[in-house]
This record gives sequence, C-alpha cells and structure tokens, in this order.
Amino acid sequence: MDGCAEDLRTHLGATASGNFSYLAHIVAASPDGPRGDPVQSGKLANDPDNILLLCDKCHRTIDRVEAHKYSVDYLNSMRERSVAAVRRLLDTLAYPRARAISLIASITGQVHPPLTHAEMDEALWSQGIRADEKSPQALVSIPRQLPDPHDAAYWSVVMRRLRQSTIELRGVLEGTSSDEQAPERLVLFPLSSTSVLVLAGRVIGDKANVTVFQPFRNAPKNRWLWPTGASANEFRSTVLGAGQQGGEACLRVSLTFDITDDRVPTAGVPTVHIQAARQGHDAIAREEDLVAFGLCVDEALKVLQDQWKVETVHLFVGAPASACLKLGQKLQALHHATIVVYETVQSSKGFEETIRITRREARHEPTGECIDLNP
Ligand SMILES: [Zn+2]
Repeated sequence: MDGCAEDLRTHLGATASGNFSYLAHIVAASPDGPRGDPVQSGKLANDPDNILLLCDKCHRTIDRVEAHKYSVDYLNSMRERSVAAVRRLLDTLAYPRARAISLIASITGQVHPPLTHAEMDEALWSQGIRADEKSPQALVSIPRQLPDPHDAAYWSVVMRRLRQSTIELRGVLEGTSSDEQAPERLVLFPLSSTSVLVLAGRVIGDKANVTVFQPFRNAPKNRWLWPTGASANEFRSTVLGAGQQGGEACLRVSLTFDITDDRVPTAGVPTVHIQAARQGHDAIAREEDLVAFGLCVDEALKVLQDQWKVETVHLFVGAPASACLKLGQKLQALHHATIVVYETVQSSKGFEETIRITRREARHEPTGECIDLNP
C-alpha cells in the first residue's frame, strides 16, 4: 500500500516472528466482493497480477472501511509502482555482467581440462561478478594433438581462431558490440603456451574492464580460486648493458625459473631482467601480485621504449599463465618495437623463436600466418 511501510514479519506483542500479511484481491474473487465483476472475478481469481500483499489494516481499508475510494485502476497503478520500486532495488544488488573468456589449451606434456560452468561461476562469484549467457567463450581452442608451439600447424590453428574471435572481443571491449546485452567486463581464464598468452594479451590490451584469473594446479577444489593466506610477492627489474636507438634488446621474465644466459640465443645483447622475490609456480598467488608485476613490466618497458628506443625486443618468459597474459596486455605500449617471442624447446630447455609481434600484426614467419592487430 502506498505509504505503508509496515514490516509484516513482526508484531509488537508477538515473541516469535511470523507471517502477518494478507493477500488481497484487486478485483474480488467473487462477483459480490469488493470491485467484483461478473466476468473478471472468475478470470482473475488466481492471477498473481491481481493480488496485493498488505497488512491487516490496509486490507480492511480497501475492502471494507473505504472500499468506494479504491478503484481497480487505482490499485493496479499502486501495484505497478511498488513492483517497479522493488525492481530498482534488486537491480542495484545484481553483480555486473561479464564475458568469461577461456584461454585453455594443452601444452606439450600437459593436458588441461576445459573450463567448466561450475568453476567459472564460483570464480566470478568470489569477485562479485556474474557470467553472461555467452560465457564461457573460447578465445583460442587448440586441438589436443597440437600441443607444441614450435610446430607450424599449431600456429595455423591459433592464428585462424584468433582472427575469428578477436572481432567479437573488440566489440565487447570498446562497447561497440551490436549486442544490446554486451557485458561490461571481460574475465580471462588463461592456461596455454606462453606465446599464445602473450599474443592474446596483446590483442586484448591493458584495459580497466579486464579481470585475469590464475590457475593453481594443486588447488583442492577449484583451480581458479585465489588461495587464501598467500603473502605478497615482490618484483624488480635489473638492467644489464645499454641498448641503442634502433638496436636490439632482451626482456627476460624469470618468475617460475631463472632464465640464464646459456638458455637464450642472444648472449651479450642489452637486457632488462624481471625477477620475483618468491620464484616458482606460486610467484603470482594474489591479485595484488599481478598488479605489482604489471607495474614492474611498465618500468621495464620504459627503459626499452623511452630510454633505449630499441627496434627489436627478444622476449623470454618463464612465468605463471596470468603473468604471461598481463605481459602481453602491457606490450601495447611498445608501439615502435618488434617483439620476437621465444618459447622453451622440450628436449633442450633452450629457447627458440615462435612468433613476431609488430605494431600492426602478429606473424609466424615459417608459415607466413598472421593476424592484423589494428583492423
Ligand atoms: Zn498497511
């Protein structure tokens, strides 16, 4: 009832809480009742839209005390106002909608199960987000029989699938999607080869409406939940040598293992080396670790881009999946350099080139497969 804010679960004298409400018909269930009608009463007797939930006093007021003052039209519009007010309140409680993007693919020697709806929903819920109906969407799904990023066939598949999915993704990120229900946020579930994650990150960019999860292989329940009680990690970058304008440099990221000189084919090239205070698979164990790592990458890129102004950056990464993706997101800032991405070869532990990322495109040289980064 307009203006009556009676709490219908409690009453002054009652020691227990109870249901003190009354269901009142707008058009009475009987033609003889208040606002009854020979035709409508029978039709509307069980129609929820014909029912008001009232306190005893309000119920008696509209049905007996002043029934003549309360017309069907008046009570219907009162009901609509009340429903709209509740709708507005419920909308403020709803979590923002996000598109969950799965970046899961088997890596040499490791088979990773796909993202389940249950895992996704639980992870999103822990962050106060809910998935939209298109979630989870696979950004790159790579067949299990193609686990090796040094295999040419691998890149034909990756590049082709990335070409298809980036168009839709851009619409979401830039709010230009033709879909009226476009989500406000992207949530990424990365578990793939370093090169694919760096490239996906580069395509997505370092936007504020992107959330990244980190998989934990020994998680007891859901691999995508951040573990509780992890302590903060720290990251620092060290500069070795001095790069020249238009020259070459290395960016080494040693979070899970140390990338030593003997593992890279670029000994003697000026280098920026990012290292973690706590090295290993738990180098990124909190969302804040990922933020701190991102800031360290910003510092490293400033040296490469603004101080040295090098033309080619050789990228060697040993890092958890979320950090590989974050690194790729940051690379958008390196507009003038060509990034040569390397990946370890299973047999030798040495790094070998996979793809090259320039301002305009990402290319796999041996096959000529590429995707346009600024369509
Ligand atoms: Zn009332």
